[in-house]
Amino acid sequence: MSAPLSGPALAARHLVKRFGTVAAVDDVSFDVPGGAFLSLLGPSGSGKTTVLRLLGGFERPDAGHIDIGGADITRLPPFKRDIGMVFQRYALFPHMSVADNVAFPLKQRGQDNPARVDEMLEAVGLPGLGARFPHQLSGGQQQRVALARALIFRPRILLMDEPLAALDKHLRERLQAEIRALQQRLRITTIYVTHDQSEAFVMSDLVAVMNAGKIEQIGPPRTLYDSPRTAFVAQFVGDSNLFTGTPAGPGALKLSSGEVLRAADTVNAPRTLIVRPERITLGASGGNTLRGVVTEVRFLGEATVTRVRAAGQDVTVRTPGAPTLSPGAEVTLAFDIADTVALP
Ligand code: ATP
Repeated sequence: MSAPLSGPALAARHLVKRFGTVAAVDDVSFDVPGGAFLSLLGPSGSGKTTVLRLLGGFERPDAGHIDIGGADITRLPPFKRDIGMVFQRYALFPHMSVADNVAFPLKQRGQDNPARVDEMLEAVGLPGLGARFPHQLSGGQQQRVALARALIFRPRILLMDEPLAALDKHLRERLQAEIRALQQRLRITTIYVTHDQSEAFVMSDLVAVMNAGKIEQIGPPRTLYDSPRTAFVAQFVGDSNLFTGTPAGPGALKLSSGEVLRAADTVNAPRTLIVRPERITLGASGGNTLRGVVTEVRFLGEATVTRVRAAGQDVTVRTPGAPTLSPGAEVTLAFDIADTVALP
């Protein structure tokens, strides 16, 4: 077996950061392969920003360490970490022109390179705007300048903290695509904080889902969606139906209403089964079948979301196209055993 060519570009090991009695970051470890885009995704207060600030050197961890390219940088100040950072607020210097803002990290390092400034402004889609001042730019343009400034000294790692949060939806989506394309072109290892699942999914190679200071699961978007390992991940990443009950032998779950559901995992006895709304068929029978009554129908244009009361709980079903049922209708729900995710 051949050894891997190199280790991760960035490794976080057992990071802990407390503020008083709050463990904002509670034993967090992860690896980011070179050139990968990792998102830290989680609800407000889950510790995403604190992890980023530990990586950037703006906070000191109470325990744990951070390696970049195999070297321990835990004790280095921010400017010695070879890291570029983009913040949520446009942290540009208001009294400096765009070109001077972008050149700032070079000047801090005793360099001056106007051609490189022009090259970076071109890379972020702002050619020729170097003479303007920040107040003469839109919010989206200001974030592009911040990105150019973060990348100009060719850092090994790029950190971004909700850089698009203040922008409207259209612009946000355009910049998501642009940032991802630039990141791939430069092959820069990137760690990106967001609370927006779709943003994390469209941009990332890897997503780490955070909850209460911990990483609940880390993996490619598809793995998180298809194989969530906790109920929290299942509910935070897309919509889910959770069926809980008592284990009834290998691969079988008995609901409190009496029905038995079957899981794809036939070794362990689950306590919870997760089924995505689009995996359920209305008016059919399948590996698992439940009877219920429609309580709500919402037509979204490309799809219909139907709420059904079945097995003593509300079940959400998503079907393509227009509604075929009305509230009050009796219906069967069916889903394949292979479309269930079992949790112990
Ligand atoms: P948001 O999406 O709202 O920015 P987040 O996931 O980035 O949230 P953090 O900002 O990392 O979460 O905060 C994690 C926890 O640590 C929260 O309970 C927060 O109140 C607390 N915290 C963060 N910074 C400090 C600080 N400087 N002093 C005290 N508590 C803090």
